[in-house]
Amino acid sequence: MVAASPSSALRIVLLGPPGSGKGTQAEILAQGLGVPAISTGQMLRDAVAAASPLGLKVNEIMAAGELVDDETMADVVRERMAADDAQKGFVLDGYPRTLAQAATLQEILGGAGQRLEAVVQIDVPEGELVNRVLGRQRADDTEDVIRQRLAVYHEQTEPLVAFYRERGLLRDVDGHQSIEDVSKSIRDALVGAG
Ligand code: ADP
Repeated sequence: MVAASPSSALRIVLLGPPGSGKGTQAEILAQGLGVPAISTGQMLRDAVAAASPLGLKVNEIMAAGELVDDETMADVVRERMAADDAQKGFVLDGYPRTLAQAATLQEILGGAGQRLEAVVQIDVPEGELVNRVLGRQRADDTEDVIRQRLAVYHEQTEPLVAFYRERGLLRDVDGHQSIEDVSKSIRDALVGAG
């Protein structure tokens, strides 16, 4: 298992479709590494619940299964990554989701003399994804919205797999296993990262 040390902070992205278990795995991995899990989906849901200006702006977009615009997301992520607790590294869940966001992330990190250590892709068969998400019963988890989010994932987010593979950062993990086995596979995939 990789360990976070002050000299080599660990900055990891989890990539995967809705229902792949990214959020759960981000929490487990972050806890093991002693770094924060940064979930943009959760941050936006919190903003909606608080009816903050950000929440009011993104509410309808999220409910429709569409993506919030790249500039808004850049502001959200830039601010969160500037916080003290993120200086020792982080596990990003839900960002980046477009090639433009991946470029923004490189810029933010590069500007601070930092870089990503690894991008973990969690693979789960499509039929299993819909079942899992339907079992979750969140406001944006009706079947139509899930199908829309999966379509958006294939169209906008899947190109990131090639983007990060070309940069030598991508690690593939089988997400169609128990929660414990997926987290073990992620830890194994990260040995040697950083
Ligand atoms: P899931 O992992 O189930 O796809 P998330 O919790 O990551 O869901 O995100 C929920 C919703 O929040 C997305 O459908 C989208 O509307 C919005 N969202 C989260 N992160 C981003 C992002 N990086 N860019 C644009 N929209 C985002």
